[in-house]
Amino acid sequence: LVLGLPLIALLIAGARAEPVSSTRFDLILRNGTVFDGSGREGVRQDVGIIGDRILAVGNLSGRQATREEDVSGLYVIPGIINVHDHTVPESLTRPEGLLTQGVTTAIANPDGGGSVDIVKQLSPAGGLGLNYGAYIGFNAIWQSVVGNDDRRPSDAEIARMRGLVTQGLEAGAFGISSGLDYKPSFWAKTDEVIRIVEAGRGWHTGFPNHERVYPGNGYSSLAGITETIEIGKAAGLMPVVTHMNLQGASAGKVSQLFAMFDRSRSQGVPVGADALPYAFGTTALDQLLIPNWAQDGGREAMLARFKVPALRKRIAAESSEIMDRRWNGPGGVYLDQLKQPLPQVMKDMGDIDAGEAVIRLVEQGLSRVILYYGTESDMLDILRNPLTALSCDCGARNWTFGHPRQWGSYPHFLGRLVREQKLMPWKEAVRRMTAVPAAMVGLTERGYLMPGMIADITIFDPNTISDRATIEQPTLPSVGVRLVLINGKLALKDAERAPVPVGMRMIRSRHEASRPMDFRVDRHLDLSGRLPDGTSVALTLGQGADAERPKGKVSLRLAGAPIAFTPSILQTADRWASVTGIGRWPDGRVEALTLLVEQADPLDQGHPHLTVLIDGAVRADGGLQGRVGITRTPAGK
Ligand SMILES: [Zn+2]
Repeated sequence: LVLGLPLIALLIAGARAEPVSSTRFDLILRNGTVFDGSGREGVRQDVGIIGDRILAVGNLSGRQATREEDVSGLYVIPGIINVHDHTVPESLTRPEGLLTQGVTTAIANPDGGGSVDIVKQLSPAGGLGLNYGAYIGFNAIWQSVVGNDDRRPSDAEIARMRGLVTQGLEAGAFGISSGLDYKPSFWAKTDEVIRIVEAGRGWHTGFPNHERVYPGNGYSSLAGITETIEIGKAAGLMPVVTHMNLQGASAGKVSQLFAMFDRSRSQGVPVGADALPYAFGTTALDQLLIPNWAQDGGREAMLARFKVPALRKRIAAESSEIMDRRWNGPGGVYLDQLKQPLPQVMKDMGDIDAGEAVIRLVEQGLSRVILYYGTESDMLDILRNPLTALSCDCGARNWTFGHPRQWGSYPHFLGRLVREQKLMPWKEAVRRMTAVPAAMVGLTERGYLMPGMIADITIFDPNTISDRATIEQPTLPSVGVRLVLINGKLALKDAERAPVPVGMRMIRSRHEASRPMDFRVDRHLDLSGRLPDGTSVALTLGQGADAERPKGKVSLRLAGAPIAFTPSILQTADRWASVTGIGRWPDGRVEALTLLVEQADPLDQGHPHLTVLIDGAVRADGGLQGRVGITRTPAGK
């Protein structure tokens, strides 16, 4: 006997056939200080979990659970979401460096990298140690079609690259990432990039770009960021300035940067941003230190140019200029594999100049470098901006060298910058690591700790959370993260990792929108109509900027049954909304319920569209015969 899918669904659903008021929870987290991710103050509460879902937040003192954890004195927050993740494939099953920071979800392929086959990439044989999704990378696509040479693609090649963008989005990508600073996609002209990524128009998704900073734009981050915004705007994608910082000629110009964001927003194109809590980065040794023209054609072509004395001299001189203009001089270059700053290496090589030393290191096969840029005060100002999500530009990797961010970013932010330097209140720090990045990449059921949301939860001690990793000892684990739950399952407890990987592969549907988080926005949703399968809905909900939950009336019938729906949160974007909460069936069964609402589905001739998710699975989906109204008003207007 083979069970049909609907029957299996019924059996699974039947396993939960009790009302929540009497159900035994799988897990209760007791007496923690709960920050829900919205920016509201922490409240001492209990959290009740069944399966992979948060079903109750409040006083659960009369309720029982199979397992309980007393988390008195600890902060309980939504799992941290890293939108700029460089985890290497061999560490995906055991992402120690991320779990000990409290990261539960990571989005791979930033800077345009990764595989053009993201389904394969997201399905490693050993399983996933955390939730893992991916961007589709422009650089990967460009390199696979155009190669390493500085040349113009044909119309047919542009069409092929557009096809790969669409294929990635159909596979569930969380945006189209790019790193136009990196060769060979550096050779792509602005209008070529637009023609290619424009294949994502209508997918409600983003364009996070590592901007170009090079002699051609006067070593200006602001010029590179202007291009990012221009591409997003022209291609119908939300521009995202990823690992935002101000290098070279742009150092010190934070107010100009945010004025650009305001201008773009007022033109109807909100810009997203993420930043890391360090004023230095790490990358491949040659990419951002050797002049671009010398990298044309790839590594072998570059090494051949080094062998021509006249070219070598020119490359060394230009490399020195890059260091002076962009990386605070040779002193801003640190060779982490050698554990030496470049000036020391120059001395040891016989007092040679900086550019010549870099060439020799590249020739010797050294691969990585740490680079100092801009100023510490710019970094702090960037982090202070309420738009900025925290990202770490880090990833799990079992390397013995590297940037301290790989093991330290979020505890560094929470311990040094939030607790010690009081950069911002805890509630705001939590929002920047959870709801803001979730909205930016189009997650709807993660990023908040509320009934109906997925039980990704990080629990830490606010008095002790700290990074220990340094430039000299970059792999020292952070301290203070006490408990990490991923999809309701224990992933880490007191520095012990769960034996079985508990993460899942994440796929974005095109009805989950990349959006700026609803910060200081009063929002309202009116929805009425039916789907071809008989699902019917009539709903009027409003949620003020500071309101704890939406208020209004909901009536929902699924497969003929009336569902009592208690919403926890209304999220909105331009002509898009989602409502997540708890639905109760007539027989008392209680399940997580999310409605995804499109006022005018761009990929379906502007018709309204409704998707109903029950415990994350699509229960109903289609063009809505009816009416949708979504309004968003800045608070106080
Ligand atoms: Zn980057």
